Amino acid sequence: TRNWQGQHITVAGLGVSGIPAARVLHGLGAVVTVVNDGDDERARAQAAELEAEGIAVRLGDGATLPEGTELVVTAPGWKPDKPLFAAAAEAGVEVWGDVELAWRLRGRDGREAAPWLAVTGTNGKTTTVRMLASILQAAGLKTAAVGNIGVSLLDAVLGDEKYDVLAVELSSYQLHWAPSLRAHSAAVLNLAPDHLDWHGSMEAYAADKGRVYEGNTVACVYNAADPATEDLVRAADVEEGCRAIGFTLGTPGPSQLGVVEGLLVDRAFVPDRQRQAQELAEVADVQPSAPHNIANALAAAALARAFGVEPSAVRDGLRAFRPDAHRIEHVAEVDGVAYVDDSKATNTHAAEASLAAYEPIVWIAGGLAKGATFDELVRRSARRLRGVVLIGADRELIRDALARHAPEVPVVDLDRTDTGAMPAAVREAAGLARPGDTVLLAPACASMDMFVNYNKRGEAFADAVRELAAERA
Ligand code: ADP
Repeated sequence: TRNWQGQHITVAGLGVSGIPAARVLHGLGAVVTVVNDGDDERARAQAAELEAEGIAVRLGDGATLPEGTELVVTAPGWKPDKPLFAAAAEAGVEVWGDVELAWRLRGRDGREAAPWLAVTGTNGKTTTVRMLASILQAAGLKTAAVGNIGVSLLDAVLGDEKYDVLAVELSSYQLHWAPSLRAHSAAVLNLAPDHLDWHGSMEAYAADKGRVYEGNTVACVYNAADPATEDLVRAADVEEGCRAIGFTLGTPGPSQLGVVEGLLVDRAFVPDRQRQAQELAEVADVQPSAPHNIANALAAAALARAFGVEPSAVRDGLRAFRPDAHRIEHVAEVDGVAYVDDSKATNTHAAEASLAAYEPIVWIAGGLAKGATFDELVRRSARRLRGVVLIGADRELIRDALARHAPEVPVVDLDRTDTGAMPAAVREAAGLARPGDTVLLAPACASMDMFVNYNKRGEAFADAVRELAAERA
C-alpha cells in the first residue's frame, strides 16, 4: 500500500466527497490542498474549518494545479474537460475520484477488504442497491448500502464496522474517475441518454458505465431487454470464469433470471444437473411491483446469487425492502384523484417508467433538461395523458414536444421557476384531473433551477397536495 506521509495531494472541490477525502488524506499524513471554483459564504466557512485542521484551501481558483502536486483527488461531478485536469495530465499527475480513493484505501488497516457488489445504470441504482443490501442482510451477512443514500464509501472502507460485503451504487461520473476498481460482480441496469452534457456523448457515457464490469470475478449482470448493457459486458475485460448473467421480465434463458407465472426465478445459479428454474420470490413480494421495479429486484437477486446467497434469503430480503421517498410515492387521494410523487424521475427514462404505470395521467413536468430531448418520451406517453402542467427553466422543450406529438392534450404552461410554482402547479393539475385520474409529478428533469434537490421538490409537491386535501375536506 501507498505511503501517504508527506505526499502532496490536491483535492478538487469542497463538497460532500471533497471534504471527507481531504480529512482522510490529511489524517494519513498527506499534505493536502483543496482547490475550489466557488468563493461564496458557504465555501469560506468550510475553508475556515478545514484550515483550522491544517488543510490548505484555495477558493475561487479551481483551475490551477498547485505546485508540487503528486496526485489529484476530484469530486466526481467535475467535468473531465476542466483545465485542472489538463494541467494534471501535462504534469503526469494521476487523477482519482472518490470511488478510486475508497477502493485504494480499503483493507488499509490490515483486515480483509470486503468485496464489492456494484450497481450502475441510468435509473434504479439506489433502489437496486438497497434491495441488494436487504437480501444480503436476510442471508445473515454484515453489509451496507453504499452511495447516494446510506453509508458513504470512505466510511464503509475505513470506519469501525467490519463488513462481509458491500452493495455499492456507482454513478457514471464516479466510474469515469475509478480506473482500478474491480468489483466481485456488477450490474448495469439500463442505459438511456442522461448527463450527456457532462460526458460529451452517448458513447462516452456508455463507456464510463461499462467500466463497472472491468475485472469482475464472478458475474457481469446485464439487462436482456437493453442490448446496450450486454454489449458493455462483451467489451469488458473480466477475470477468467466470470459469467454474463441476464435478467428479463419474461421467461429466462439459461444463465438468466426472469419471471414465470408470477414468480421471480433463477436459471443461472442452479446446479448443472438441475435444468429447471429455481423459484426465488413472488412478483407480489416486490414493492411497488411495477415492471421497472421487478427488473431492479431481478438485478439485485442476480448479484446476491452471484455472491452465493440462498433463494430463501432473496425472498426474505425483497419482502423486507421498503422503497424510498419521492420514488413513485403515493401522497394522497383528493376528490377521487390520486397524487403520486416521483420527483426522483430526473430524466426522461425514469419519467417514462412511472408514466407507464398509470392512466389517465395529469402530468406535472419540467425543470433542468441537462441536454435531453423529450420527443420519444412524449410520443410514447401521449395516449395516457389527460393534461400537462409545466414548470421550470426548460419547460419549453417539453411544450414543443407536446405540440408535435400530443397536440390534443391540454397544457398549462405556468412560466414560473420560483418555489411557489409547485402549489400553483398542483392546483392547475387538480383542475385538469377527473375522478379516477392520477396526478403524477415525474419532472423528467433535474430540480436545481427551482429547488435545492429532488427531495425538496417532492416535499413541495406533497405539501401542496396536503394543503389541497385539507381545503377540500
Ligand atoms: P437512481 O439511483 O439510478 O437515480 P432510483 O432507484 O433512485 O435510481 O430511482 C430513480 C427513478 O427512476 C425512480 O423514481 C423511477 O421513476 C425510475 N426508475 C427506477 N428504476 C427504474 C428502472 N429500472 N428503469 C427505469 N426507471 C426506473
